[in-house]
Amino acid sequence: MKDYYDIVVVGAGPAGSVAAKSAAKKGLSVLLIEKRQEIGDPVRCAEGVSKVWLRKHINPDSRWICADVKGSRIFSPDGSMIEMAEEVAGGEVGYVLERKLFDRALAYESAEAGAEIFVKTRATGLIIEDDFVRGVKVMHQGEEHDIRCKIVIGADGIESKIGRWAGIDTSLKPADIETCAQFLMSGTGIDQDYCYFYLGNEVAPAGYIWIFPKGKDLANVGIGILGSKSGEKTVIQYLEDFVADKFPDARILEIDVGGVPVSGSIERTTANGLILVGDAARQSDPITGGGIINAMEAGKLAGEVAYNAISVGDVSVAKLNEYEKKWRSTIGIEIDNSLIVKNVFIKFTDKELNGLAHSLKGFNFSTMSLIDLLYALFKANRKLLWDLRVLF
Ligand code: FAD
Repeated sequence: MKDYYDIVVVGAGPAGSVAAKSAAKKGLSVLLIEKRQEIGDPVRCAEGVSKVWLRKHINPDSRWICADVKGSRIFSPDGSMIEMAEEVAGGEVGYVLERKLFDRALAYESAEAGAEIFVKTRATGLIIEDDFVRGVKVMHQGEEHDIRCKIVIGADGIESKIGRWAGIDTSLKPADIETCAQFLMSGTGIDQDYCYFYLGNEVAPAGYIWIFPKGKDLANVGIGILGSKSGEKTVIQYLEDFVADKFPDARILEIDVGGVPVSGSIERTTANGLILVGDAARQSDPITGGGIINAMEAGKLAGEVAYNAISVGDVSVAKLNEYEKKWRSTIGIEIDNSLIVKNVFIKFTDKELNGLAHSLKGFNFSTMSLIDLLYALFKANRKLLWDLRVLF
């Protein structure tokens, strides 16, 4: 490990690896550090991604794709089912990944592009001089090092400290966090061609339960509920109750717990000499909690903007505003719209959710675009159209 790089990226999740690759491809010297000893492990993810968006960043590889689904089946509280084709089912339906291998493949691509990678290396603080971030303090194999650089990219996930250390408010209230738990299960017997979603305040208050196929009769069965709504039962208890009811004979092979930021976009994701990306920048989708694709999109933009800034010798927050503008005008719009929709949907009673599902009976979702779907929903539910009027 050298003591000077153009860029230090903290965190080797999808955001960090793509940022490192994007900057290294431009010829910058890049260090990517990861506190865990194995990139991608443990997994805190249902591992679903849209095919179209994924292909923008990496060629699909059967080594890290567990399932290639046709669509999703969404169940309302009374059991009414809506089936949607993969193309209209949203950003988390398409491939189900093996993230332990996928995250490693992304890191490998950054190494191929020229980035240096150190695992078991934790950022413990920032070097800040004259109000500029000038590097990272790290703990590597029991020893502290100061690594100086022109720009730090903070890709340290939901538990991010990098932003806070640089004076950026990344704090999350309980209502801004989706609390999640997931079992990797064998023997559910689900149709491996579909992702399943179960809605309703009984099963998952202000959230949902998902079942994502992982091939060979394996599936990720998980739940996400809003932090502010958990209380009566723990998130694990909700999941255990669901599993006991639906899959009494299935077996749990792995338990994962974690949180997803669902706050919507935060005010600032840059400082002098610093860019935040992915969950660290709170860029996951407020409705679905999906964040892999947004993390990759933001990582790519961050690497490119860092290159532009370093090329002209200006890493000030004013110059890095190029990143703010780019991500806010692309993924930021979707994130903000999603937040509006989320805030309407979490107020729905089970009766209203059933009403929505019933209003869509008879539609052929295999041929509908998302816009057609929304139009059908609004046509049948004038109140929904009124609640979401700010989107139009
Ligand atoms: P992360 O993937 O969290 O990576 C951050 C990395 O930084 C970690 O490897 C961490 O170890 C490292 N790190 C942290 N602090 C330091 C430090 N101080 N020094 C060095 N390294 C550090 N998204 C989807 O798109 N589809 C899904 O199906 C989906 N399901 C989910 C299910 C669950 C249960 C949860 C919790 C999340 C889910 N998400 C899903 C969200 C998705 O996992 C995240 O949005 C995505 O991983 C964000 O990528 P990231 O690179 O920003 O952060």
